[in-house]
Amino acid sequence: MVGSVDWSQIEIAPMNDDEIDVPITEENMCSVLGINDEPEHRKIVSEAAMKASIADVDACVADIDEDLLADAALPVPDHMPEEDHFWYDKKHPVIEEGSLFRSMNEFRMLIRTFAIRGKFDIKIKDSDTTRFLGHCKGNACPWRITARTIEDGKTVRVNKIVKPHKCSSTAAVTTSMADQAWVAEKAMGYIQTEPNIGASELRKKLQAEYKCTIGYHTVNKGKERAKNSLYGTWGKSFQSLLNFKAEIDKRSPGSIVEVDVKRERGEVHFRRFFMALKPCIDGFLAGCRPYVSVDSTFLTGKWNGQLAACTTLDGQNWMFPLAFGFFATETEDNWIWFMQQLHRAIGHLQTLAICTDACKGLENAVKIVFPQAEQRECFRHLMANFKKKFHGDVFGRMWPVAKAYRLETFNYHMAKIFEAEPAVSVYLCTYHNLKWMRCDFNTEIKCDYIHN
Ligand SMILES: [Zn+2]
Repeated sequence: MVGSVDWSQIEIAPMNDDEIDVPITEENMCSVLGINDEPEHRKIVSEAAMKASIADVDACVADIDEDLLADAALPVPDHMPEEDHFWYDKKHPVIEEGSLFRSMNEFRMLIRTFAIRGKFDIKIKDSDTTRFLGHCKGNACPWRITARTIEDGKTVRVNKIVKPHKCSSTAAVTTSMADQAWVAEKAMGYIQTEPNIGASELRKKLQAEYKCTIGYHTVNKGKERAKNSLYGTWGKSFQSLLNFKAEIDKRSPGSIVEVDVKRERGEVHFRRFFMALKPCIDGFLAGCRPYVSVDSTFLTGKWNGQLAACTTLDGQNWMFPLAFGFFATETEDNWIWFMQQLHRAIGHLQTLAICTDACKGLENAVKIVFPQAEQRECFRHLMANFKKKFHGDVFGRMWPVAKAYRLETFNYHMAKIFEAEPAVSVYLCTYHNLKWMRCDFNTEIKCDYIHN
């Protein structure tokens, strides 16, 4: 082929060692790298470049004819939605003639806050998707406002405000400006930080923030609206959970996603949830210590209940998530169901340790579902209970007891404790009879953690 390069025919000339080894310094840099650094040369080069580029521009300008210039004057449809940034303080909106707002809905919301802040009520005379006409409800007050959408059909511009007010403040009476939609918008922030806030509490906060009086019913309904738009409705989120399960079953076969329901008066209600993804199951079986730690914590969002989690340890003692679930309360029945799902996921393991807290329901569930497993109890949880009953030297010796690898050390400290406080023996046998002492751990588990 003409012009193509036959790479096999190209010889690369070997460089002499002295050519390669020349150290580059500030002085020789230009000559080594082949750069001409003479000041006169640089001046000539830059002048030449400048002349050439001016010539280029002249040539281009000569090419531009009248038509092209005319085209440039036409509006170009290069409007980007991201350009529509309207910055306003939603808590303290400023509404003046010429002010622009993102949409009619947003404008209606802001004018409510504006009126609440200004301690007056607005009667909306005429409003649709393109225009807004409102006036002050105050007796014979001339204040009025008109606004309408501009050419884009969306942005709202305030055209005229007739000032000033000649009415007395209406702040003392319940404001009609704070309707359910307004409360819903303002309640979002409060609900996000405090999901279970009551309507009375929310009402107090809104009234303090906006220095107005709002009806309880309005706040209550507004709060529900806000919750629905934040978290969705119960029915919708339940359906999402089922869709989620279906999607996991399809995309990650071998995963265990279980949604347990109950039927009441012909209706299906959510009861419990469990999930162990296939990669987590495989990772546990292939690369983790035969040790799982199970615990649960309170859910503090819209849904109260318990979030149960099952974690294991990999070869580097890094925590490895295995499964999680949620249910209403820590009953034995719920824990049995949870452990049964875990059993489905990991199968029967002859060598397995399960570490839990002092929860009786969970302890029994482990006994029933994983009878072969070594049942360990988290020492931190044990001590949280222990220190309510015993103090002093007895208390301090518990750590060497739990941490001792050798039975002799364990027995030595335990004897001292029993000597000082005989009641400890009965207490531990009654309430903490699982394995919490390191010297009694099965060495096959390869995990000597005393905490879960
Ligand atoms: Zn007025």
